[in-house]
This record gives sequence, structure tokens and C-alpha cells, in this order.
Amino acid sequence: MSLDDHAEGLASDLGVDKEEVKADLQNLVEYSVPIEEAKQSLRRKYGDGGGGGSGPSRADIADVTTDSGSVTVTAKVLTVGKRSIRYQGNEQVIFEGELADETGTISYTAWEDFGLSSGDTITAGNAGVREWEGRPELNLGESTNIAFEDDIEVPYDVGGEADLESLEPGDRGISLEVEVVEVEQKTIDGRDGETEIKSGVLADETARLPFTDWEARPEIAAGARLRVEDVYVREFRGVPSVNFSEFTTVAPLDRDLEVSDTATRMTVREAVESGGAYDVEVLGSIVAVRDGSGLIERCPECGRVTQNGQCRSHGDVDGEDDLRVKAIVDDGTGTVTAVLDAERTAEVYGGDVDDAKAQARDAMDKEVVADSIRDEIVGREFRIRGNLSVDDYGANLEVTEFDECDDAPADRAKALLAEVAE
Ligand SMILES: [Zn+2]
Repeated sequence: MSLDDHAEGLASDLGVDKEEVKADLQNLVEYSVPIEEAKQSLRRKYGDGGGGGSGPSRADIADVTTDSGSVTVTAKVLTVGKRSIRYQGNEQVIFEGELADETGTISYTAWEDFGLSSGDTITAGNAGVREWEGRPELNLGESTNIAFEDDIEVPYDVGGEADLESLEPGDRGISLEVEVVEVEQKTIDGRDGETEIKSGVLADETARLPFTDWEARPEIAAGARLRVEDVYVREFRGVPSVNFSEFTTVAPLDRDLEVSDTATRMTVREAVESGGAYDVEVLGSIVAVRDGSGLIERCPECGRVTQNGQCRSHGDVDGEDDLRVKAIVDDGTGTVTAVLDAERTAEVYGGDVDDAKAQARDAMDKEVVADSIRDEIVGREFRIRGNLSVDDYGANLEVTEFDECDDAPADRAKALLAEVAE
């Protein structure tokens, strides 16, 4: 854009004389003020943006904040996802995705069918700004004017083509090429009574992720290779999960797919930085077994671990015995708490709940069970597979496989070298 173009746009936004604006802009730019900053300062000078009654201000996407109220943006539609939601008691079809200009991207929800397709360039006049998961999002509703414009260039990929590794909760209008590696059909109590759904695991060349098909499509079968369009991503137990809606399309894939049936190998640091990961494998040493391991009691109502017969929600309860290990794993790049369920705990302990109770009774101390487990695993190296979630209290790995590894030093050196090479 030339200075002349900037001046023209700004003048029409502000309702002032173009030559006057241009002279001011020229002045500021000559003093090395960046053009966007110069425009902002002229907006202030001519009284826009202060609720001055000239309607929503034209904004660059990077400048839209949750305090923006309403804005007018010119942007390219990157993705369009269609979804039906229940809103104020009614079924409503909405369109969601991302818009971009040269300064950034922003997600949007369109409450009407404006006929948006990915690749369109639009000016959304008077788009409401609301906060969604801590970030600004544009609301395109009945008071929004959508005008289709000449194509603009943006430094972002248009269309929702993605691989599983790159998906994040909140992604919408996504297209994938995947293999269904696990699937089961379930009946759930949905909002319209009993509903059949399918859930399982998808894989591509990059990763494996859980999915739910809310329509229980017949094409979703184990081993099926599919191209799916218009899926959305939600967080489920700390990891991204792919959701098929009624508007998702599914077609056989006309190419081979080299899916991996092994977990994604990661360093602890990578896994933790990913903010949550499905089916990952780390190699590390057990440096400690945390309190709350060994023979524990759970509340029969909610399953929470009780302390001295007390549940945090249900007070005094008659706890049920269970086995668990919470072990701190260190691979040199970071630490994570590996959580082993009763079955896997029994394997490392070498006995079941009844054995543990007998040992505790003989010693007149429950802690002996945790101590036995400590003796077994602390200081040794394991290959640990599971699902990683990160919360305010740290990173937890819900373990699905827990094996001591003989080749650990070599593998670990390799993992560390890869880390260093980045
Ligand atoms: Zn309880």
C-alpha cells in the first residue's frame, strides 16, 4: 500500500479531508514512525476510537483486543467449519474458523450463513469482539455487514489441511487424511436421548489422536483410510481430540498412508512443552516414588483417593482398597509424574491388592507397600508410554506401558543428542 492509499483509507474512516491526513502521515513517516503507529496516532488526533460515534474503527487483526468492542476488518478466510449447537434452547447452525490479514490471525464465529468459503477475502463491518479462551474472537452476527473483496495476500495457509501432530484444541474446519486404528461403538445419553457414537484412535504419518464420531458413520471402521473434511478439535483429558460432526464429510482415501503403530517418542521437555500429548513414549529414570503410592483407599462414591478415611467431597467414607504408583521420571530434559493404575502397579509390585493388604497387616504399616515398589523401580530406567496432560500442578503421564529398557543408555543418548541439535 502506498502512503496515498493509507491516507485515503484513514481519511474515509475518520471522515476528514484526505490531503490533511496525508500531510500528517507524511510528516510522521519522515520522522521514521512506522506507518501503523502513525495511523494510530492520527486516529487519536482526529478523535476516532474514543467512542466518537463514527462507528467501529477499522482495525488490523494484530491490534484487535478483547477490549475492542466492535471492529471492521478486511481479512482472508482461512477456514470454515460448520457446526450445530444448542443456543438458548434452540438448535442453531454456526460457522467457525479463522480469519487472517498480513498482521495476524483471529478466530470467528458466524451466527448466520454469510456464504463464507476458505480463500475468500472479506470486509467484516461492525464485527463484535468477545473473549474466547482468553483471546479475542470475532462474532459475525445480524449487525455485521460482510462484503466480498479482491484477493489479499496473507502469510498463512488457506484451507484447513492439517496433520494430527499440529492439531490444537479450538481448531475448526480442519481436513485430515488418516487411518482409523481403533474404534468402538457406544450408546450415550445425548441431548436428544440415547445416541450411538463411535470413538477410538486415528493415525497419520505424524501422530495418533483420539476421536469421536457423533454420527456413528458406517465408514468409520478399523483399518479404514479416509479423507475427512470439516472436523473440529477439543481437549479431552488434557490431549487434543478430533470430533466428527453431522457436517463432517468422509471419503475413502486414494493414497497409501504410512501410519506408525508406535507411540511418538519424545523427550520429557518436548512432551511437557506440547501442553498435552496423546500416546507418547519417554525414556527416563525413576528418581522417586511420591506419597500417595502403593496401597491406597478410594472413595466408593467418586473414586478420589481418601486421606485417613476422608474424601474431599464426601467426608467420612468406607474407602475401597486400590493400588497406584506416582513415580517421578527424569530423562535429563525434565521431569514428569508417571501414574500407574492398579494392574500396572501389581506388575511392578509383584502382587495384587490382597498381597499388599497382607504385607501391610504383617508390618502393621501401609507404607511398606510403597517402600517395596520404591526398592523395585527407583534408580532404574524405563520406557514409559502413555497420555500426557499438563495442569497447574505439573505434568502427569497416564501410563499405558511401563517396561524396563536394556538399551536405555543408547536411546537416551540419541534422544539427548537430538534435543541438543535443535
Ligand atoms: Zn468422594
